[in-house]
Amino acid sequence: MRRFEQRQCLNRLDCVLKGDGRLGHDLDPQDRAPKDACGVFGVWAPGEDVSKLTYYGLYALQHRGQESAGIAVSEGSRILVYKDMGLVAQVFDESILGTLRGHLSIGHCRYSTTGSSVWENAQPTLSSTDGGGLALAHNGNLINTAQLAERLTSGAMRATTDTEVLTALLAQDASRPVDDVAAELLPEVKGAYSLVWMNETTLFAARDPQGIRPLVLGRLERGWVVASETAALDIVGASFIREIEPGELLTIDERGVRSRRFAVAEPKGCLFEYVYLARPDTTIAGRGVQSTRVEVGRVLAREHPVDADLVIPTPESGTPAAIGYAEQSGIPYGQGLVKNSYVGRTFIQPSQTIRQLGIRLKLNPLREVIEGKRLVVVDDSIVRGNTQRAIVKMLREAGATEVHVRISSPPVAWPCFYGIDFATRAELIAGSLSVEEIRSSLGADSLGYISLDGLTRATTLPADRLCRACFTGEYPIPIEDDRVGKFVLEAQR
Ligand code: SF4
Repeated sequence: MRRFEQRQCLNRLDCVLKGDGRLGHDLDPQDRAPKDACGVFGVWAPGEDVSKLTYYGLYALQHRGQESAGIAVSEGSRILVYKDMGLVAQVFDESILGTLRGHLSIGHCRYSTTGSSVWENAQPTLSSTDGGGLALAHNGNLINTAQLAERLTSGAMRATTDTEVLTALLAQDASRPVDDVAAELLPEVKGAYSLVWMNETTLFAARDPQGIRPLVLGRLERGWVVASETAALDIVGASFIREIEPGELLTIDERGVRSRRFAVAEPKGCLFEYVYLARPDTTIAGRGVQSTRVEVGRVLAREHPVDADLVIPTPESGTPAAIGYAEQSGIPYGQGLVKNSYVGRTFIQPSQTIRQLGIRLKLNPLREVIEGKRLVVVDDSIVRGNTQRAIVKMLREAGATEVHVRISSPPVAWPCFYGIDFATRAELIAGSLSVEEIRSSLGADSLGYISLDGLTRATTLPADRLCRACFTGEYPIPIEDDRVGKFVLEAQR
């Protein structure tokens, strides 16, 4: 039975409720994919079941973070937050959602990029002052967290995340409207941040001047929605209005949506959102992610053709590019690997024996499809190379005569400081090895990465409107403070 614990109750206004605090464990020790840094959702809609809308919004954004989930809600006089470790559907059930009543709500699903994966760092964060409560959810990663934390009086925060620092700073001056405080504070905040936050009556949203992470505004019949991706709007029945502009701050209440600009827009959207992070049914900058990925596959086929019998994806992230590769090359497309979708974040503590099964827990080859075939295997990216090495070996053991690996992103050779938990440069296989050396390390017959120009063209956006730093090492927001990294605040304790 779920154990509730009242964690904090200040001014009799705001409280945080905690579930049983179970920790999740990832059964895939190979850490195959880049990990995203959260999904955010907010809704202002009197008369609607806002916590349920937020639940479904987070459900649609689950791919962006699987470590913890939380919802904050207000009926006008107090903010209530419920959060716990685990997937959205594991954290919330009907009875919990039934206790979260109000007319506005925000929600968050987390993958940690600053601070450990612990309950205290789950979001929404909550801060209470004499002026009332403030709950905040953040997608992205700040690069001047340590500097910002120095502005806080000691004891102002318990958690170890950039988000907690932001929350505390926004709540520090209760004498002024929080959107005025935000308009003054946000120009000083460096890095990637797509934010939704709320006080007891009003929903707010803001996006960093570079617009690194997506954030969109939608309309319900009786209110407004803000979400990380358009797919979340679809799922809750909201119509897409527009993207929130880089450097824009929105205030949403009974007077409607008010916009103000706190910084000049310098758009540098994350190129990796197109490659892997965003849902295929999401639209970014007017371009569908699925059609972009299929086009990337066509470009990949033109850039790296090969004689082969079958194109197969690494399911599911390689699927659209594999379809594009097959279309362009004329080589038949097929499913050669079966994915177990139920393996992933789980509450089972795996034994050492189970861990050693590694990739086989997630993927298993279809021998009858691949035996005797020359295969093209399409995947979205190579981070450390462990997964692709295991796949190549598995396919050969299942009877493939040749295995040609094609990757729908350029080599990832640089870490991301803006919200993706890529390994350090030393851990990235392309950080130190050439393409030929990587091919040899994977045991593939050939290896081809899409070119950076080819990938950029497929997005239809000009290169100067994109962040491409993990491929080039050219960071659009300079990393000026060397106090960066996932444990920057924990290191200072
Ligand atoms: S460094 Fe890479 S993953 Fe990070 S924001 Fe830039 S393009 Fe995206």
